[in-house]
Amino acid sequence: MKSTLRKPIYLSPPHMSGEEQNYIEEAFRTNWIAPVGPHLQAFEQEMELLTGAAYAVAVTSGTAAIHLALAVLGIKQGDRVFCSTFTFVASANPILYQGAEPVFIDSEPTSWNMSPTALKRALSTAYKKKKLPKAVIVVHLYGQTSRMEEIMKICNKYKVPVIEDAAESLGSSYKGKASGTIGDIGIYSFNGNKIITTSGGGMLVTNKKDLADKAKFLATQAKEEAEHYQHKEKGYNYRMSNVLAGIGRAQLRVLNERVEEKRKIYQRYAQSLPFYFMPEYSNSRSSRWLTACLLPSDSDPVEIIESMRSHQIEVRRVWKPLHMQPLFQNTEFYQHTKGLSVAETFFRHGICLPSGTNMTKEEQLYVMNLLRENTRTTISQEAVIF
Ligand SMILES: *Cc1c(COP(=O)(O)O)cnc(C)c1O
Repeated sequence: MKSTLRKPIYLSPPHMSGEEQNYIEEAFRTNWIAPVGPHLQAFEQEMELLTGAAYAVAVTSGTAAIHLALAVLGIKQGDRVFCSTFTFVASANPILYQGAEPVFIDSEPTSWNMSPTALKRALSTAYKKKKLPKAVIVVHLYGQTSRMEEIMKICNKYKVPVIEDAAESLGSSYKGKASGTIGDIGIYSFNGNKIITTSGGGMLVTNKKDLADKAKFLATQAKEEAEHYQHKEKGYNYRMSNVLAGIGRAQLRVLNERVEEKRKIYQRYAQSLPFYFMPEYSNSRSSRWLTACLLPSDSDPVEIIESMRSHQIEVRRVWKPLHMQPLFQNTEFYQHTKGLSVAETFFRHGICLPSGTNMTKEEQLYVMNLLRENTRTTISQEAVIF
């Protein structure tokens, strides 16, 4: 049944709480439009409370937060930075901004995120060659936190700082801690498709005062304290505006609700479709920002995506691993086990399903029925992937 009356169903559109206008109005009434202001400070404090991180710095995007993280850790021209391969390009672009060299690390099957096995091999190889990285960027995809205990143990052994790209995992937790607060620095994104949004924005969190101060300093043009304009270092214009921080504050109030709703959406899909769904491993709680799954090996993700598109439903492939991108041709890459790239397997079979919290139950049922119809001939509980 093809209905042209239905409105399109997107992957993860913005979902406003209704309170945002009041916060924006307050910023206008008090003329705190820019540069900083009370909403900005309050938003940072509220993020500190929510995550348990000692310091939060609000910036213009998640990408800017990653860039600042690398800058405050002193990553410069010629340095090496390890990064998850299975992620959005924004995780690694800032490595290039710094003139540094990325090295990509594969995923593993339990978390779908960075493989501790591959990381261990990469670090011990680098150590032997005296080419240890200056940082490791660990990405928590689709709400799922990586295996941080193992990853921190390995990185601590070599004294390599860890940046958590938690752009997709705000509201998730790992062993009782907020996702993004386990490494040296964590970053979040408030881009339009994320679990909460400021229309565009990001946040850097850390427990280290010197790193937070430095990040704020670099984000405001590295302006020294002086009567005149005084600069010793290269800075950036990365601070979030007070108006957008107001939107963020209103959104923060519904974060828990959004997580609950996302988890329900995941449950409904997982209970009724014969795909292999991204697991949630012990001691972790995923926000299920996007429901991701692997199709049976004889189903073609592209066919399903195109067919769903004809019904105005947005289904997407999972991230294409960065080591497969032309931008990162000839970049070093460490597989989970020699001869098996887990991330490449995910890419071949993986899709993300509509996960918007403003999608109604009826709409989700409609999506599920269409997906079932599209895979009718290939239904098999065993997705035969591993
Ligand atoms: C969205 C996203 C980013 C970038 O965040 P922006 O706010 O869009 O700059 C970085 N990493 C991952 C994994 C993301 O999903």
